[in-house]
Amino acid sequence: MRDIARQFKRHFDQTWRRLSPQAKGPIAEYLRRCPGTAYLCFRMDHDDQAPFGRCAYAPDRTAVTFLAPYFSLTSPDEVRVAVIAHELTHIYRRGTGEWTPDGEVEEAATRAKALDWGFDAPSFRDAEHMAGWNEVLGEWQAAHRDRFGKELESRWLGRVG
Ligand SMILES: [Zn+2]
Repeated sequence: MRDIARQFKRHFDQTWRRLSPQAKGPIAEYLRRCPGTAYLCFRMDHDDQAPFGRCAYAPDRTAVTFLAPYFSLTSPDEVRVAVIAHELTHIYRRGTGEWTPDGEVEEAATRAKALDWGFDAPSFRDAEHMAGWNEVLGEWQAAHRDRFGKELESRWLGRVG
């Protein structure tokens, strides 16, 4: 997981550098009030959806979970940056007060904003692309279950509202 964490940090820094001061301001301000931790997870098991990344907000802290194998298996860098940028955009919207608990509206607005900032949309091209990914992901999880299998998203998000 250490290699993946190193990759992740590199991509996080890359993402942060690309954000404008106007974007960074509300994110930094929000994270000062509600400090954030990023967790790399073996599996995203918080609910039925299994996104590549997810934010959870508590009054005094923020948890952002990411699917670890995503940062090990995907290329190019841009698709990894897109996932980090997407989560940071949610935090931006928290900071500006635009965030809404209506999941669909929040997703659409977040995607639009991140596109506006020049990031790719973190999504599959088509069903074949998604099936191919699920197969590769399954192989990775089977191969790494003994070492990382306990690093589940629910372990972290169980503690944050
Ligand atoms: Zn989202």
